[in-house]
Amino acid sequence: MRSSNLRCTRQRELVYEALASTKCHPTAEELFDLVRQQEPGLSLATVYNTLEAFVRTGLAHRIPCPSGGTRFDADMHDHVHVALEDGRVMDVPDDLGSRLVEALGPDLRAEMESRLGVSMARVSLNLVVHGGSERPLPRGDEEAESADLA
Ligand SMILES: [Zn+2]
Repeated sequence: MRSSNLRCTRQRELVYEALASTKCHPTAEELFDLVRQQEPGLSLATVYNTLEAFVRTGLAHRIPCPSGGTRFDADMHDHVHVALEDGRVMDVPDDLGSRLVEALGPDLRAEMESRLGVSMARVSLNLVVHGGSERPLPRGDEEAESADLA
């Protein structure tokens, strides 16, 4: 936050810490509930204003949700989101995300630019999944992944 030219207050710091320490892309209300436990004087309006300031200064971005709400993410590296109908938003692993963006291909991107009359310097994807349900991950995947890293 210190490098973003945003005045650092205790409440802003607490909101940022709460946002940066989770992968669940919380709503303003969820962050308010989390931070209020440490900072009882916090108001929901302050959380809204703080999140707006984070978005404006590039500390966080907004993720529109099919359920109508807005979720926030302090992870600013390019990554693809999957939004589920129940409101949850998940990060797609980077290797899969870059394959999805690449799958758009230069021809399709060029045709979209000409037919929509826009230029697309950078593309980010938010996939909305309808009617899906969660399935348990195959067993042993985690061990295989950490073995690969070793
Ligand atoms: Zn994310």
